[in-house]
Amino acid sequence: MTELLYQTDSWLKEFTATVTATDTEARTVVLDRSAFYPGGGGQPCDFGTLEVLDVTYPVEKVKKLGDEVLHFLGGTAPLPPVNSASHGTLDWDRRYKLMRTHTALHVLCGTVFRDYGAQVTGGDMDPLKGRMDFEFENMRAELVREIEAAVNHEVRQAREIRVRILSRQEAFQIPDLIRTKINLLPDNIQLVRTVEIVGLDLQADGGTHVANTSEVGTIKIVDYKSKGAINKRIYIEIE
Ligand SMILES: [Zn+2]
Repeated sequence: MTELLYQTDSWLKEFTATVTATDTEARTVVLDRSAFYPGGGGQPCDFGTLEVLDVTYPVEKVKKLGDEVLHFLGGTAPLPPVNSASHGTLDWDRRYKLMRTHTALHVLCGTVFRDYGAQVTGGDMDPLKGRMDFEFENMRAELVREIEAAVNHEVRQAREIRVRILSRQEAFQIPDLIRTKINLLPDNIQLVRTVEIVGLDLQADGGTHVANTSEVGTIKIVDYKSKGAINKRIYIEIE
């Protein structure tokens, strides 16, 4: 089992860990703890490096498999033996951009729900750009500038972002979480991590976020598309 360090400290840029398993064929290493985000919820995985026994391996991909995190190592150096001590370093420039982008998407979904009652159905992101799908029948071109102004207003409110880990029972008491379909959570998940933009948005979420909306920057709505009568896709970029 890998302890997911990013869940409680999204600001961890470097960490030490012990190698618990390796797969020479796939060039993967499992660690007992990791700050590398393995991807999920629309947020892509982290990149970086892993130093073990004087070798610096590039970490080219990270993936969660069950309760373990697989680190895919580049290069040609032989993989380290199990029980080796290692030192991981994130590509922080990429990760911090993803934290800003992920938070921007939550500002967008909180604002659109508050102002138009539209629910989110999905989303995806890359550093400094992303898209979000809504059940938003009344979305039209004239609303683009209105939504853009409203989300940037929320960013400038410098709203705090709070991360909590709740029991399933506690989480199921929160009306805002029920709205975001928390009832679809698999039965075996007993702890729910919540990310709250205070006063704007609250979601069950495993991703990494900035601490305050003022870190996001300026959000631009660069496009929107109809994916049918009800489903609309909004594209954003961050500056
Ligand atoms: Zn999210």
